[in-house]
Amino acid sequence: MTAPHEPTKPLDRDALRARLGFYRELGISEFYRRPVDPVLWADPAAVAAQDGPPSESEMRPLSHAPVTAPSLFQQPAEESAQESEIAARKLFQPILPPPPAPLPPEQHFAALKLIREEIGDCTRCPLCQGRNKIVFGDGDPNARLMFVGEGPGADEDASGLPFVGRGGQLLNNMIQAMGLKREHVYIANVVKCRPPANRTPDPDEAHTCVPFLFRQIDVVRPKLLVALGQTAVTYLTGEKKPLSAWRGTVHPLRGTKLIVTYHPAFLLRDPNQKRHAWADLQMAMRELGLELPKRE
Ligand code: SF4
Repeated sequence: MTAPHEPTKPLDRDALRARLGFYRELGISEFYRRPVDPVLWADPAAVAAQDGPPSESEMRPLSHAPVTAPSLFQQPAEESAQESEIAARKLFQPILPPPPAPLPPEQHFAALKLIREEIGDCTRCPLCQGRNKIVFGDGDPNARLMFVGEGPGADEDASGLPFVGRGGQLLNNMIQAMGLKREHVYIANVVKCRPPANRTPDPDEAHTCVPFLFRQIDVVRPKLLVALGQTAVTYLTGEKKPLSAWRGTVHPLRGTKLIVTYHPAFLLRDPNQKRHAWADLQMAMRELGLELPKRE
């Protein structure tokens, strides 16, 4: 968990090249410069940069209609395989108290800190045995948008921060493609310790850890949750359904809304699915009232 960050600096040329490559993978190839970023959480300092390559807030897709075709909400074969792995294990619905009354925004940081202190040097489930660092969560305690992943990988286990490896870089690109910045969203996982060999968390492990995630959600009270992959949506909802049954719809969850998309690690294995993820992200943008990319 971190306090609100310093403003993001304009992208250097390598980062800009990577960003443009990500947009190209989404099928976006034309761009224009705009003087002011109209989306929420825009960084005026980045917009004001006049020299060098254009900043991230200056780059917006030009030729891109919203992607809403039903085929974009169908399910690739590899996600089905992941579902089977979860379905083979016993699931049970965790007994959770109803969400408490919302806290004043100025108390969110301290409330998250208390949850982290309560977790302590946790040994509540077997995942404690192989971890290096507990990965609690990271981002803005007052975020309007919260991403939920499965669990830490090797990079996250080493750093103590969620989504910092290759999957994390892709998630950063996804966030930035929405016109947002990572430091203004909140990110957490179903389990806070790395499963051995990055396996899917066992139900007992996930259900032991997920109440902490729900408490983080109850504190942050995002306007929108985005579940990244099958494990996240399964343990957020307690329901086992195909990812295709979740995607393409906004679901009520614990006093907020839930949208489901693919885990960045899955998108790294199958980049062709990025356009499907982009359809999900555009739905999230509409829920947040963010401006969708459009032709000028
Ligand atoms: S995964 Fe969660 S419950 Fe298990 S040891 Fe880590 S912090 Fe504790």
